[in-house]
Amino acid sequence: MKTVSILCVGEELLDGRTRDQNAIWLARASTDHGFDLSSIHIIGDAQDTIINALEEVSQTCDFLVVSGGLGPTADDITRDAASKWLGAALQLDESALRALKQRFAARGYSYTANNRSQCLFPAGAKILKSDVGTAAGFAVENNDCVITFLPGVPREFRWFIEHYMLPQFKPAGDAEDLIHRERLVFFGAGESWLESQLEGIEELASEVGGRVSYLAKAPLIEIHLKAPGAKAVSRMLDFTLERVSKWVIARGDQPTEARIGALLQEQGATVSSAESCTGGKLAARFVSVSGASNWFERGFITYSNDAKTKALGVSAEIIDRFGAVSPQVVCQMAAGAQKEAGATYALSISGIAGPTGGTPDKPVGTVHFALAAPDGVWHFEALFAGKSREQVTSASAYTSMALLLW
Ligand code: ATP
Ligand code: MG
Repeated sequence: MKTVSILCVGEELLDGRTRDQNAIWLARASTDHGFDLSSIHIIGDAQDTIINALEEVSQTCDFLVVSGGLGPTADDITRDAASKWLGAALQLDESALRALKQRFAARGYSYTANNRSQCLFPAGAKILKSDVGTAAGFAVENNDCVITFLPGVPREFRWFIEHYMLPQFKPAGDAEDLIHRERLVFFGAGESWLESQLEGIEELASEVGGRVSYLAKAPLIEIHLKAPGAKAVSRMLDFTLERVSKWVIARGDQPTEARIGALLQEQGATVSSAESCTGGKLAARFVSVSGASNWFERGFITYSNDAKTKALGVSAEIIDRFGAVSPQVVCQMAAGAQKEAGATYALSISGIAGPTGGTPDKPVGTVHFALAAPDGVWHFEALFAGKSREQVTSASAYTSMALLLW
């Protein structure tokens, strides 16, 4: 299996001015194209640092992608560093220079002497011409590794990866060699409990050359499985599902709201929502799915106590007695939304999103949920401690959907 690493060069990536996009994009492409991104490195624009990193990282992978520092300005020193590291002098490529001058003329840019530096390449390098920018990339081989140097501008970087690199990873008769992945989303089961149920999966993973990772996204847990070959990953998947399938609410890349829509449509069922602290975030997720009108009946945003009473028939006395953030109120909200909308199911949310408010027994981040189904009303409570208002409300919308899939 071929491994790929990326080395991003640029001072601006280290001081917080620029958020790296190229490594992230390549990471995503590796998932989509079935190869393994084995490491991401970010370094500043110093020649020694670049040379040391090239030497070190090239020994650990089959392909190394270097991003940034190919431009014409004095801080663009990747090509000099490459030349020094390879012991290959920089040579002018006449055809690259002609192409650069033509491009400048066509766009009415003025050509300056420093632009010539963009047409210098280490002797023996394969020059990678571009349709999208002025800088060409180049590829060399050293330490049994193919090193591809690309411009840092994200749009240009992607173009090169798409045109020069990804085609090399196309399934070539040995698709079984590609990395296959599975993602499972769990609700209602903790990370360590899940791991205890999956005893033996690590052994299976190492037998098939795969890997298992647990991602806690409270109150959900994701398990990611990857392995070379569809068969290997499906063995790991079967192992997992045999033991803990009851807690799986989503699989693969399908967004949860799309999965809900598909399931409801299959059943000829509908859902409505009654939201307090999330202010419509749950409804917004539902309507992000094309064709949602087939299964999403309506959403109520009942922020005030009065609204909960008037729109959903929640008892004012119950609100007084238990507070708006309580099991009693969310259950009445869900039952009211189900009845008012004539929907098969209704979901309700009421919580303390913070950052202010809350009491010792209902701290900020306390959220109550209910699901009204044809056979009864179910309640769930979560505490999103230490999260921002935005995080509490987003996690709440997601949790509510999880409740429906549970
Ligand atoms: P140029 O010809 O534009 O100078 P270059 O190859 O020299 O291209 P850089 O100078 O390193 O590339 O970066 C060009 C632009 O792309 C800058 O705005 C830089 O912040 C941005 N950039 C570089 N690397 C990354 C990265 N990994 N993620 C996001 N943006 C990046
Ligand atoms: Mg530059």
